Amino acid sequence: MSSPETLTAGRGVLGVIGHPVSHSMSPRIHNAAFQAQGLDLVYVTFDVPIDRLSAAMAGIRALGIRGVNVTLPHKQAVLPHLDGVSRLADRVGAVNTIVNDDGRLVGHNTDVLGFQKALRSLLPEGAGGRRCLVVGAGGAARAVVAALVEDGAEQVWVSNRTHERAVQLCAVASAWGRTLCEAVTLGRVREVIAAAEVLVNATSLGLAGPVKELALPVDTVHSGHVVVDLVYSDSATPLVREAQMRGASTADGMEMLVMQAVESYGLWTGLKPPVDVMLESVRRGEG
Ligand code: NAP
Repeated sequence: MSSPETLTAGRGVLGVIGHPVSHSMSPRIHNAAFQAQGLDLVYVTFDVPIDRLSAAMAGIRALGIRGVNVTLPHKQAVLPHLDGVSRLADRVGAVNTIVNDDGRLVGHNTDVLGFQKALRSLLPEGAGGRRCLVVGAGGAARAVVAALVEDGAEQVWVSNRTHERAVQLCAVASAWGRTLCEAVTLGRVREVIAAAEVLVNATSLGLAGPVKELALPVDTVHSGHVVVDLVYSDSATPLVREAQMRGASTADGMEMLVMQAVESYGLWTGLKPPVDVMLESVRRGEG
């Protein structure tokens, strides 16, 4: 933490808006990076209930806040308040990063690039030509599917508790590129896992703890699979642990979380982000 002597009048402010937001790891990641690069910037959390979003956006402009991350429940709701959006944010229909360029607020979606980078730690060439299963059809799944299509995946299957949402996601994603997108019912998941190379959990199922339900039938996972769990926790998630026991290559949500932060940091500062420092900040668990 900064001491009062290190705070200066010129310090720029960045942050994350969400509700609730106190659990966010983003301050830890960004403040570690600002410190490492000697930048006079600080990153804080802004707890913004839904009925205060409009006022918060006006506040960002009025106070000259350099940029913010956007988390639940505002990732879609923030769109009408922006002056522009990047191609990927427009495609995903959600914004997780806002850059304040002299009062002009532009939205980006760095979850897409964050997922691509996390996947590259396991598959250096990305998802190009691969067959992939995404479980989930919410905001995170949409970013993952956009990333897989962007990478040139051959096939993306989407399975979700509420099947209709998977159908809707595939209908939209089919127009994004050449990737074949197909919604599959939960009853077909085992068959699809056998044909897939990349498996992604983009549901909120599978946090470590008393609830043991997993998003994927792990007995079907084998050493040829690459498994990415978007859920993150201090230790390996149950899905990652089970997949590792079966010899699969794995990454959990922490990797993607840091990589989306790396992308946001680059947008705000224009600098090459100190990736190792940012990764280390979450591994050390320092606040
Ligand atoms: P969301 O829009 O609320 O979507 C939640 C998804 O999980 C939906 O597909 C939902 O299915 C499914 N789901 C929830 N409870 C379920 C249950 N009991 N059984 C089966 N499916 C269930 O949330 P989101 O923003 O997509 O986030 C999803 C997860 O990704 C969260 O754990 C979030 O923390 C994580 N995430 C991680 C990162 C990262 O950087 N690592 C980034 C973004 C999100 P229905 O459609 O049937 O409700």
